[in-house]
Amino acid sequence: MKTKLAINFSEKLTTTPLTYRLVKEFDLKVNILKANIDFNHNGHILYEIIGSKEQIEATLQELSTLDLTYRLVDSTIKIDRDICTDCGLCTSVCLSDALTIGEPDWELDFNTENCVGCNNCILVCPSQAIKMNDIL
Ligand code: SF4
Ligand code: SF4
Repeated sequence: MKTKLAINFSEKLTTTPLTYRLVKEFDLKVNILKANIDFNHNGHILYEIIGSKEQIEATLQELSTLDLTYRLVDSTIKIDRDICTDCGLCTSVCLSDALTIGEPDWELDFNTENCVGCNNCILVCPSQAIKMNDIL
C-alpha cells in the first residue's frame, strides 16, 4: 500500500536517523515530500511511504515509542467543492497531475495519490477553494 506519513518530532530527535530506520529496519520505500529540520528545534517531515500493511503497522508501532507524533494522511490539501468554479487554473501549476480537468464533464478531478504537497495550487486559486490540511 502507498500512503503519506506526517511526523512532528521534538528537538531531542533532530539527530535521530528516522528515514534511515524506515528504510533499513522496516524495508519501506520512502520519498520525502516535505521536511523542516533544524538542529535543536522541533521539526516535521512528510513522507510518502510504500510497503505492506504489516510493514506499515510495525513502523507505526515503533514510532509510537519515540518522542514524536505521527499521522497517516490521505491528502495534504482539501478542496471546497462548494466554492470551486472548475476554472482549471490550479491544474496548470500541478506538476504531478494530481489536479486535472477535462472531458466529458470539465469538472476538477483530484487524485490524492499523486499529490506531493507542493501547495502551488493553493497560491493560484482565485476562489481560495483550496486549503492545506492541518497535518504538520
Ligand atoms: S499541492 Fe501541489 S501536487 Fe498537490 S494538488 Fe496542489 S499543486 Fe498538485
Ligand atoms: S483554481 Fe480553484 S476554483 Fe479553479 S479549478 Fe482549481 S480549485 Fe477550482
